[in-house]
Amino acid sequence: MTLPFSALTHLECARCGRRHDADRVQNLCACGSPLLARYDLDRVRDSLTPADLADRPQTLWRYHELLPVRDPAHVVTLGEGMTPLVPLPRYGASIGVPGLVMKDEGLIPTGSFKARGAAVGVARALELGARGIAMPTNGNAGAAWATYAARAGLEALIAMPADAPSITRAECAAAGAGLYLVNGLIGDAGRLVAEKIAAEPGVWMDAATLKEPYRIEGKKTMGLEIAEQLGWRAPDVIVYPTGGGVGLIGIHKALLELRALGWLRGPMPRLVSVQASGCAPIVRAFEKGERTSEPWQDARTVAFGITVPKALGDFLVLDALYETGGRAVAVDDEELLADRDRCAAADGALLCPEGAATLSAVRVLREQGWLSGDEEVVVLNTGAAAKYPETFRVDPPILELTDRIP
Ligand SMILES: *Cc1c(COP(=O)(O)O)cnc(C)c1O
Ligand SMILES: [Zn+2]
Repeated sequence: MTLPFSALTHLECARCGRRHDADRVQNLCACGSPLLARYDLDRVRDSLTPADLADRPQTLWRYHELLPVRDPAHVVTLGEGMTPLVPLPRYGASIGVPGLVMKDEGLIPTGSFKARGAAVGVARALELGARGIAMPTNGNAGAAWATYAARAGLEALIAMPADAPSITRAECAAAGAGLYLVNGLIGDAGRLVAEKIAAEPGVWMDAATLKEPYRIEGKKTMGLEIAEQLGWRAPDVIVYPTGGGVGLIGIHKALLELRALGWLRGPMPRLVSVQASGCAPIVRAFEKGERTSEPWQDARTVAFGITVPKALGDFLVLDALYETGGRAVAVDDEELLADRDRCAAADGALLCPEGAATLSAVRVLREQGWLSGDEEVVVLNTGAAAKYPETFRVDPPILELTDRIP
């Protein structure tokens, strides 16, 4: 029997294990936990090999058997995925980690890795018959989901903090989304979205972080790609700037699925969560050895995409860190901006503030001896630096055209 386009079988509660029907719109389990997509991996193992992928398009849809969209006609794409692994040899050597490599998600449509979750999430919303998607965001997710909703012909309703990077507002508006700005944090935006969804029943699918199961599947492709790009093996360490934690949960899930397929051998990489010291609930929980986090008060950081005071999937992030022997690290805004600039000068690689936080974390982990310096360390640059012009303090002299160059 030939393999279907998607090997999706069902959804499973990440906490209580209850099984849910994947072929209708689903949000959280009755127990309040996110749902995870499950696949017939035995069937994929029997009918597909890594070599079969070689000639497929260089987008995340090359992994379609391991993605939830059943009908190729429902794929929504702007060419997302297969971002490069870029070595950072000079900056890496300067901090004692010459094997430092960046996966550059700044090159993806909409300028952030949120496009991965949006492509797969919107495609699946379209497939399940949704009319529109609604979500709170710190900016990049809203921009990506609004853009992919436009691509799919769906409506979008987005709410974000007024302080979110202003370009992300412009992106939502340009894509024709209904946009609300709130004086508050992402949780306040979430309350507004919940009211809007309740006020218009049947119109909006709730696409808030982890409240629908398919954003993880899109972000999971970062883990699939890292393994494929390294010749079907994992690096020693993967370092991820963590807000809601979807990317880290997704990468962990991807590597487990690849191991179940027998495509990935050897130990799991150690997974590291990085947060800003102005909003570090996962780090605080990790340091206490706890399995869930407490809401962070007065959250504030220049790395706006990781300003998440309480993540719905915190227990999944913490499980992944404990299981893989990883760590959680907090870094200051001043440090991450300084490391961003040093890396740009050393290697010509300019990262977004969230991505730059991973550079600081690697430096600190090397200083502490947690990294020996021999490891291959992959950091995720989750977005394009150009989306954050307000984080640069550059003040060169302005010359009059009539002036002589000094
Ligand atoms: C959303 C975002 C993050 C955090 O992603 P999560 O999967 O929610 O942890 C990191 N960096 C950037 C640029 C983001 O937009
Ligand atoms: Zn449950």
